[in-house]
Amino acid sequence: GFNCGIVGLPNVGKSTIFNALTSAGAESANYPFCTIDPNVGIVAVPDPRMDKLAEIVHPERILPTTIEFLDIAGLVKGASQGEGLGNKFLGHIRSVDAILHVVRCFENENVVHVSGSVSPRRDIEVIQTELALADLDTVEKRIQRTEKQARGGDKKAKEDVDFCLRVKSTLEKGESPRNLPENEDERLILRDMHLMTAKPVLYVANVAEDDLEGTHPYVEEVRQLAASEGAGVVTICGNIEAEISELEGEEKLAFLQEMGLAESGLDRLIRSGYELLGLITYFTAGVKEVRAWTITRGTKAPGAAGVIHSDFEKGFIRAEVIAYEDFIASGGESGAKEKGLMRLEGKEYVVNDGDVMHFRFNV
Ligand code: GDP
Repeated sequence: GFNCGIVGLPNVGKSTIFNALTSAGAESANYPFCTIDPNVGIVAVPDPRMDKLAEIVHPERILPTTIEFLDIAGLVKGASQGEGLGNKFLGHIRSVDAILHVVRCFENENVVHVSGSVSPRRDIEVIQTELALADLDTVEKRIQRTEKQARGGDKKAKEDVDFCLRVKSTLEKGESPRNLPENEDERLILRDMHLMTAKPVLYVANVAEDDLEGTHPYVEEVRQLAASEGAGVVTICGNIEAEISELEGEEKLAFLQEMGLAESGLDRLIRSGYELLGLITYFTAGVKEVRAWTITRGTKAPGAAGVIHSDFEKGFIRAEVIAYEDFIASGGESGAKEKGLMRLEGKEYVVNDGDVMHFRFNV
């Protein structure tokens, strides 16, 4: 599955947010929060479209799609040199698809700040420096390994070294190598290295209870930095989320209303994480179940079918597709068919977010 690692300095609110995320996930009866590990949680992706589909189809059950979160504790200044949990911690970050970087934007005398004062920019830079140093080590090792072959006249190896040198100087400038590759070979080299600084990042500005509304200088600091990297920011208050996560149904709605919130920050966070990963959802809608399935944007019909079952992909013949809006506006499948809004699509069809799909395949 797809996963996000939650990182940040100690005492910024990571555990508070992770616990709120994963206990809130328990509310979705069909996808209870699964404890794989104390620090790994699976969370349902909230999608109001599923309820609309269910109103039409009246399925026996509704199954949302999910995302995995990892609470990666232990990053401190010097981690790349083995301080704190050091390399063990860094190994966890290498394995995630994307990073949620929690930044402390709340003052609280009772909660010690590891560097003595609240300073979002400095905190972010401490983490980024550790990640960049560890990545530099990775790149340098690859260069050392590949240089010998390059000197021996291996053209591919030479290109590999040249690209890695560009990655190295980008890291030395304190920038992300994320957008460096100019062709498929370079993209593969970058992917192969699992560099942490190349992963997509979403910043989570963790603010005090009273600072959820309006603009706050600390949040502005995070926003500016994020904007310069092309990253997103979600503002939440860890303590409020912890309270919300203990409520359900009516009680939860009442609390949100009282706080003047349309949805919990965690719902926003989950959805942003989903977008950050470049993921979209398609649906299957039958009387047994209405279900959401996760695919990467750009996936073609057979690949989408393969998420359900590999046989669907192997034996793919065609897909019957109704856009979500058409499905709802036509009152369901038969209505959409009558209006000619059900399309038959082949192997080259690129699935759209919200497509309601039915696959035809050979067994
Ligand atoms: P971690 O070390 O990053 O996992 O941080 P924790 O989640 O353990 O939080 C450290 C402390 O900060 C705890 O005492 C939390 O109650 C407190 N804290 C977390 N989020 C907030 C917040 O949004 N506002 C305030 N005032 N305190 C918070």
